[in-house]
Amino acid sequence: MEIVIPNGGWIEAICGPMFSGKSEELIRRLRRAKIARKRVQVFNPAYDNRYSTDEIVSHANIRMRSEPVETAGEILDKLNWKTEVVGIDESNFFSPELVNVANHLADHGKQVIVAGLDTDFMGRPFPPMPALLAVAESITKTLAVCMRCGAPAKHSQRLVDSEELILAGAAGTYEARCRRCFEPGIPRQASLNFPQTLTAADLLNGA
Ligand code: ADP
Ligand code: MG
Ligand code: ZN
Repeated sequence: MEIVIPNGGWIEAICGPMFSGKSEELIRRLRRAKIARKRVQVFNPAYDNRYSTDEIVSHANIRMRSEPVETAGEILDKLNWKTEVVGIDESNFFSPELVNVANHLADHGKQVIVAGLDTDFMGRPFPPMPALLAVAESITKTLAVCMRCGAPAKHSQRLVDSEELILAGAAGTYEARCRRCFEPGIPRQASLNFPQTLTAADLLNGA
């Protein structure tokens, strides 16, 4: 869904499991914004270096230049305030301060497009995606194809044994599975321990 609010900012969220086309959809929207001659900046978490750090890359090898950032607050530091459209991939790798950053940008007239996993390898809501969905004007849920049965898939099945919530990797480490074929295993890590509230001062200091 595309929204047109003259001079107004908003947040678009793209969520779903791995391989569902989140990065492709993000790149598609950002390309269209560039065609419309809007000023675009793209950010990705610095530690997602599966393929490349200064690009977002889809599993089908569609690429777009991107600026790696260590924290969500760094997006504000690196933002050129003439930028009109801000894309953020792998949003689930950021702490909940990303929600404040996205709101701050939208409140200041930016079109913010965030893409990320909505559930983790156990099928649990994956912070900060649920909060981003709550504050977004528009939500797109992408589904992958189940690698067991071919049905629409909403789960990211971990194929290797690990207790880490964040275990970067793609083919061989994870595969898309539908609800019926998903095998979550035993939860061994309760949750990530990020601070839940940050002030504007924290954000501006890049906390
Ligand atoms: P995401 O960012 O959601 O992980 P990508 O945009 O990187 O997804 O990749 C989507 C592409 O991955 C698809 O267009 C397709 O070419 C490829 N692909 C590989 N495995 C699957 C799968 N199980 N379901 C759907 N697409 C898949
Ligand atoms: Mg992706
Ligand atoms: Zn299935």
